[in-house]
Amino acid sequence: MKKLLALTAIAAAVVGAHAQDFPSKPINIVVPFAAGGPTDRVARDLAEALRKPLGGVSIVVDNVPGAGSSIGAAKVARANPDGYTLLLNHIGMSTIPTLVRNVPFKVETDFEYLGIVNDVPMTLISKPSMQANNYKELSAWIAANKGKINLGNAGVGSASHLCGLLFQTATKTEMTPVPYKGTAPAITDLIGGQIDLLCDQTTNTSPQIEAKKVKAFAVTTNKRLTTPLLKDLPTLQESGLKDFQVTIWHGLYAPKGTPAAVTKKINDALKVALKDPDFIKKQEGLGAVVANDGRVEPDGHKKFVVAEIAKWSPIIKAAGVYAD
Ligand code: ASP
Repeated sequence: MKKLLALTAIAAAVVGAHAQDFPSKPINIVVPFAAGGPTDRVARDLAEALRKPLGGVSIVVDNVPGAGSSIGAAKVARANPDGYTLLLNHIGMSTIPTLVRNVPFKVETDFEYLGIVNDVPMTLISKPSMQANNYKELSAWIAANKGKINLGNAGVGSASHLCGLLFQTATKTEMTPVPYKGTAPAITDLIGGQIDLLCDQTTNTSPQIEAKKVKAFAVTTNKRLTTPLLKDLPTLQESGLKDFQVTIWHGLYAPKGTPAAVTKKINDALKVALKDPDFIKKQEGLGAVVANDGRVEPDGHKKFVVAEIAKWSPIIKAAGVYAD
């Protein structure tokens, strides 16, 4: 027994010493979607903003795409809980448990919550050759093309999947889902005309809307946006889709069991990063709002995710939209 206690004390001292030194080597932030997309963009901007408050350490973004974020999230859930493997994921953390029947991790118990990063509206966009020029014309086009419409998404459980499902339910139109490993490749195909429609975060669509490479029809928030580029887009609600509202948020996670001293260091650094004027400027330019409320604390983040699971579960179930 004495020997066991001594060993436990040694193990605790080793963990404590490691926690004190943290970070002493590069940190990986796993992005569970393809490079160049909206989650990736948030992660890369955040990695830059986190570097200084974490003592100048390298922060590497590791894209682990597939299965609507499940593969990357599962990798982090199983990673060594030492603070060197983190996950940046979006609203999928709260919708995947309902959208997908067999998720290979438990959102509520397999992670340490490190704080919410931002909130991002979505936009409904189309291929550039779409003959419609406003939402009214688009809904007429949708009605005339039932059964022939291809709608891209970033895999079952992703934000674009959720938004697309809600859009199909609201417009009572079945569309053919075309899954990708993220919306970066989806938007490339949209620009090329291989798919017709996509619902995606403004952090990905803004540069394409600005360059007129895609057509934008509406935003998914309940109020119009104030970003100069997007302020003239109507909401889907005012376009006739009653109650349609989706806002995407991103949060930072570590594997369950990461020492409290390490998670505190990361959360403290995150709170500094979220006040970084460069980070705020970049995010606001893309239509995102950097978090600045109780959700930046681990407890507030977890409470928010639990509330989001409770909020989305009945909506998803009522829409009858599950996947296996
Ligand atoms: N925007 C994607 C989604 O639909 C994810 C991504 O590619 O970052 O969830």
